[in-house]
Parts: sequence; structure tokens; C-alpha cells
Amino acid sequence: MGHWCKICDRMLPNEKFSGKGHKSHICKKCARLPKEKREAIMQVDEIFGYLKQSNISQKNLIRLKKLCSSSNKKVAELASVVLEVGRVKPHKRGRLKYLAREHENLLRKLDETDLIIAHH
Ligand SMILES: [Zn+2]
Repeated sequence: MGHWCKICDRMLPNEKFSGKGHKSHICKKCARLPKEKREAIMQVDEIFGYLKQSNISQKNLIRLKKLCSSSNKKVAELASVVLEVGRVKPHKRGRLKYLAREHENLLRKLDETDLIIAHH
């Protein structure tokens, strides 16, 4: 039996976790990462998650706006793309088609940032 690390996003054997790490789902190795780095990894995950949802809510948009001002460049960039997507087409259904038709630039950004993977 292993345990899931939410930072490296994979199953690891139990011995890779400390007692505390078990509960927080962070392995020993990831627990040693600087807090900012750990946070950034989780925030990138979070941003991908919004695209996977069937709908990006108002509450999500507020959160994304906050992430746009992250000091982490990647987090800020991804958040700004998803924020824009959430504004023009919050519903996942038919989103890519809609973007291809009306917001080609935005679709290109989804592609360039690999965010488009969240749609597959
Ligand atoms: Zn880990």
C-alpha cells in the first residue's frame, strides 16, 4: 500500500512520508521544498482544475483574479488565461468550439500554456 503525494502528484510507498506528511498528503521530499514552490505547484493544479469543471463560477473568478497577481510568473500567467476563459465562456460544454470561433487568441493561449490538456 502506498500513499498519494499531492505535490509530486503520484503514489509513493508509505516510508516516503513522515507522520505529519501522511495527513497533509505531502511526501518527505516535497516537504523540504520551499513553501513558495510547493504553493505554486498546488496553485497550477488548482488552475487546471477550474478548466476541468463543468462551470467556472463567480467565486472561482475572484480566486483566479487573486492568483493573477502571484509573484510566481507561471501561476500568474495561467491564472490570467483561465480568468479570461471564465469570463467569456464559463461553461465547459462547447467551450473550445466557441473559443475557436470567437476568441482565437485565447484558444491559442490555452494551447501554448498546455492548459488545453485540461479539456481532454
Ligand atoms: Zn512528493
